[in-house]
Amino acid sequence: MLKDLFRKQKKYATIPTEATKNQVPEGIMQKCPTCGTILLSKEVEKNEKVCKVCGYHFTMTAPERIQSLVDDGRFFEYDSDLISVDPLEFPDYQKKIKQDMDKTDLKEAIITGEGTMDGYPIILGVMDSRFRMGSMGSVVGEKIARAAERAVQKKFPFILFSASGGARMQEGALSLMQMAKTSAALQKMNHNQVLFVSVLTNPTTGGVSASFSSLGDINIAEPGALIGFAGRRVIEQTVRQKLPDDFQTSEFLLKHGQLDLVVPRLELRDMLVKILELHTSRG
Ligand SMILES: [Zn+2]
Repeated sequence: MLKDLFRKQKKYATIPTEATKNQVPEGIMQKCPTCGTILLSKEVEKNEKVCKVCGYHFTMTAPERIQSLVDDGRFFEYDSDLISVDPLEFPDYQKKIKQDMDKTDLKEAIITGEGTMDGYPIILGVMDSRFRMGSMGSVVGEKIARAAERAVQKKFPFILFSASGGARMQEGALSLMQMAKTSAALQKMNHNQVLFVSVLTNPTTGGVSASFSSLGDINIAEPGALIGFAGRRVIEQTVRQKLPDDFQTSEFLLKHGQLDLVVPRLELRDMLVKILELHTSRG
């Protein structure tokens, strides 16, 4: 009997491979990609998903972001019934949309709606990079345009958080047209003197960076975010020059006048409230 007990042990020790060594049990712990510190997921959540050691900003989902901003988590969502069709019959597009819906519990790559921040009514849009890499197809563009129109009607400031890989390939030219549509809707806000604040988070690239996310009356970014139009390699090949290391980061863009502010996430809500306060005429 004693023998049996010993036999149950494996004859060989298992040597963890490099891949498994790097894996941290998902859910309980998280590894910071910048400083390598193993962090308790609960602690990370409590700290608004910012690494306590080096300040790295982990990706926030749209629902998490909304919860962290609006008063008491109260949020009235707009256009939640809008879902993408497959206008070009692009192979597997519908299947991928369905997969992302199941994975994220979202209908599209953006949530729009209204709430209050420190009592100030706002219209809020938040993109979610988990859904088709936060790419902008017709629905994303339409939701942003409608949110901007409501901002004009209600005279509420519009705050929009971008996180996007750019225009959505599977909707081809229709995606590119969203750049013009959203820009036109924001122009209307400008005519009506309604405040538009754009917050660019990691990553904001392609047609999104080249349209609404750069059109804020105030453009803010989170630290260390990748922001740019084309990828580094494409630009280097085109201009035949080596680009600086910090090229296309928030800090680089701030230095060169493309952004107004770079604000760490833990200070962002207070900063937005301050901006709302400055732009609200009372009485
Ligand atoms: Zn870190």
